[in-house]
Amino acid sequence: MAQLLAGKTALVLGVANKWSLAYAIAQAFTREGAKLILTYQGDRQKQTVEELAADLTAYKTLACDVTQDAQLDALTNELKGQGTVLNAVVHSIAFANREDLSRPFLETSRAGFTLAQDVSAYSLVAVARATAPLMAPRDQGGGSILTLTYLGSTRVVENYNVMGVAKASLEAAVRYLASDLGPSNIRVNAISAGAVKTTSARGIRDFSKMLEGVAKIAPLRRNTDPAEVADTAVFLASDLGRGVTGNIVYVDGGMQIMGLSRSESC
Ligand code: NAP
Repeated sequence: MAQLLAGKTALVLGVANKWSLAYAIAQAFTREGAKLILTYQGDRQKQTVEELAADLTAYKTLACDVTQDAQLDALTNELKGQGTVLNAVVHSIAFANREDLSRPFLETSRAGFTLAQDVSAYSLVAVARATAPLMAPRDQGGGSILTLTYLGSTRVVENYNVMGVAKASLEAAVRYLASDLGPSNIRVNAISAGAVKTTSARGIRDFSKMLEGVAKIAPLRRNTDPAEVADTAVFLASDLGRGVTGNIVYVDGGMQIMGLSRSESC
């Protein structure tokens, strides 16, 4: 079968380790023939990401802390200087203080709220602004920007708290960005992934119990496999997804449709 991303170049932000959703996406992009550029947040992560990049045969790694406008400007300038044309950008980044993912949402501090919004939601706007000028021209396919969200944006999920509010903001940002960038044939979408055990997810109190619950309740009666999130990312980045923008695509075994489960109802 022809590779779906042959001839395309993708920038992937958010590979921390082999469990990262961004790693699964990068693997699938490589399988489908994309040229990859990965980023790392700072010197602490540089070596790890460079090793992962070698496994993925990524051709470049760049520093990019998404809270630092100067680093985003440097990334744009470096890629522009090398004549890089992007076809896809994956934003797989989020952060909140651990205490805000364990105590009642009511206790969220102003600083904790602002931090979660900055890293997890505003950063998509900043990344889109930094990368849109590098995307292929409209008549050469434009580009695809993809972010990762979670059901806690629209439903109350215990302990997800401040991150749920940040994801609501992120999803609204997807729609506004899709409207702004659509005329340039740049599509902006989010995948709402089911719960997956990653480093970030472990910061949510009782995350393992959440996984157990989902496996019992979700229509597919199992947890989400990162590979199926990655395959949907391939679709959205490829020409197959050319008519899709401003969408939140759920890859969660159907968990988002459930109200009361059999075990909870009387
Ligand atoms: P992960 O492997 O821990 O990835 C999170 C990434 O965000 C890490 O690479 C982290 O970098 C990066 N990051 C945090 N602050 C940053 C900053 N200021 N600048 C640049 N990068 C920064 O966890 P993950 O679960 O794959 O998360 C990826 C995305 O999927 C997140 O948006 C998350 O909310 C979303 N998601 C996850 C699940 C789930 O259950 N796992 C479900 C739905 C959606 P460092 O490691 O260098 O700090």
